[in-house]
Amino acid sequence: MKRLAGGCLCGRVRYEARGEALFGVVCHCRDCQRASGAGHVPVIGFRKSNFSITGQTRSVQAADVERDDPTEFKPDYVQFTRDRRDWDGLRFDVPQHHTAGQ
Ligand SMILES: [Zn+2]
Repeated sequence: MKRLAGGCLCGRVRYEARGEALFGVVCHCRDCQRASGAGHVPVIGFRKSNFSITGQTRSVQAADVERDDPTEFKPDYVQFTRDRRDWDGLRFDVPQHHTAGQ
């Protein structure tokens, strides 16, 4: 992944990440469930020096943003499967961790 960009739904805030992602993970922890209202959250990590935000922000949460190209996300692993909800049937063919992954 060389460049990942997106922004908030109203378009006032944009973000851009460059370089290789440090990790891609699907997280089922209770914090991610509470923040998103969903059963899991996809998370991509970048070095802070490779990440920039333009526009006026008070805070940024995963639930507030969208990626321009959502097909780019491919998880390296799944974590906190102990908190996975029975109704969350989405499965990934990657390493599964009962608690925090790598
Ligand atoms: Zn989480």
